[in-house]
Amino acid sequence: MTNPVPENREAENGLRFSSEPAFTITPPRKPLNTVITNCPPSGIRRFFDIAQSMENVISLGVGEPDFVTPWRIREAGIWSLEKGYTTYTSNSGLKSLRQKICAMMRRRYDAHYDPDTECLITVGVSEGLDLALRVVLNPGDEVLVPEPCYVSYIPCIEFAGGIAVPIKTDAEDGFRLHADRVAAAITPRTKAMLLGSPANPTGATQSREDLNRLVALANQHDFYLLSDEIYDRLTYVGTHTCLGSLPGARERTVVFNGFSKAYAMTGWRVGYICAPEPLTTLMTRVHQYTMLCAPHVSQIAAQEALENAESDVEAMVSEYDRRRRLFVNGLNEIGLDCYEPRGAFYAFPSIRRTGLSSEEFAERLLMEERVAVVPGSAFGPSGEGHVRCSYATALPQLEQALERMGRFVRRITTRSTENDAVSGVRR
Ligand code: PLP
Repeated sequence: MTNPVPENREAENGLRFSSEPAFTITPPRKPLNTVITNCPPSGIRRFFDIAQSMENVISLGVGEPDFVTPWRIREAGIWSLEKGYTTYTSNSGLKSLRQKICAMMRRRYDAHYDPDTECLITVGVSEGLDLALRVVLNPGDEVLVPEPCYVSYIPCIEFAGGIAVPIKTDAEDGFRLHADRVAAAITPRTKAMLLGSPANPTGATQSREDLNRLVALANQHDFYLLSDEIYDRLTYVGTHTCLGSLPGARERTVVFNGFSKAYAMTGWRVGYICAPEPLTTLMTRVHQYTMLCAPHVSQIAAQEALENAESDVEAMVSEYDRRRRLFVNGLNEIGLDCYEPRGAFYAFPSIRRTGLSSEEFAERLLMEERVAVVPGSAFGPSGEGHVRCSYATALPQLEQALERMGRFVRRITTRSTENDAVSGVRR
């Protein structure tokens, strides 16, 4: 249907409002959003796309379980479709799911949240991060981020108008977050710290003592703690500490978690936030306008996951742990020094001995030996000198990847030693 245009208006402004445009069509010239335009594409996707277009590639590139969602969870999803649960849920998510999450948080971590006012079901942790940053930040606020860090953290901070302030962590001490480095980075504009433990890409976990020091700093300097705990169940050494359960932390902490990793449910897009009431109310406000709710079917499947899939999680975690030990030993044996990752499903070996940058290493390893890894520089400048290898990959493939990587490293290091001999360089 077209709107009739009064004749006199047409004459008035000199335009013709007929169904045939008489004006010249020009491409838009006004610049698009500068923050988003300046944000580079994710360094993970680039290698993933190249690897996809090649044959016989072993991909250690993508941070996703190689297991399919356990059958009982899939069955709950199928059941919910059969029953016709195809509508929106409440904005906060199914009350019964929030109740189960809060009961689990109390039981597992002694962390106390009210399912009615302090828990929100999100479209994965990804949405949770975006909501929290938008609610916490005003333009120009600073967010402390231990680095190397998950690829989404810094872009999401910037999309929300904030400024990321990286805090370097090092392989030599297991990527420990030192309170003195955090203290040195605090300014009057510091509004929050965003951290993940266990961490992507390093597999590092932060000790309870270090987290307590962080909480003390947050109280002293009044900033929020945004704690991404998506890998909590994938902790192989020691036990996970939920930041929201630490004394003095609860009122300034947002805990993010979800079903993607522990339950192998990445494609279901369901996660949750636990946070004190004023924060949750505002995050729900953004969520109700931008997302409405997480998928209904996925919420029903998530309930089944929490209720009945403990044995599935344990089986997957013990398989990851087996691979972790084998793979990390293998990396050290082929000359890629790797500290012991304590959680998640990533190894982050040093490649310094090869003399290549992490980009060159990843690109050449893919082209020459058909193994896809992610350059450490994709996780911030302090990731340089490392590559990220996901061991959420079947054991025989991991073994083959080690063989190919070993051949590659031998070739590179032999060649550079020969070149050094010719040019008289001493290492
Ligand atoms: N946080 C971290 C540290 C991750 O590694 C990932 C995915 O790789 C996410 C969040 C995204 O999780 P979700 O699938 O729940 O959005």
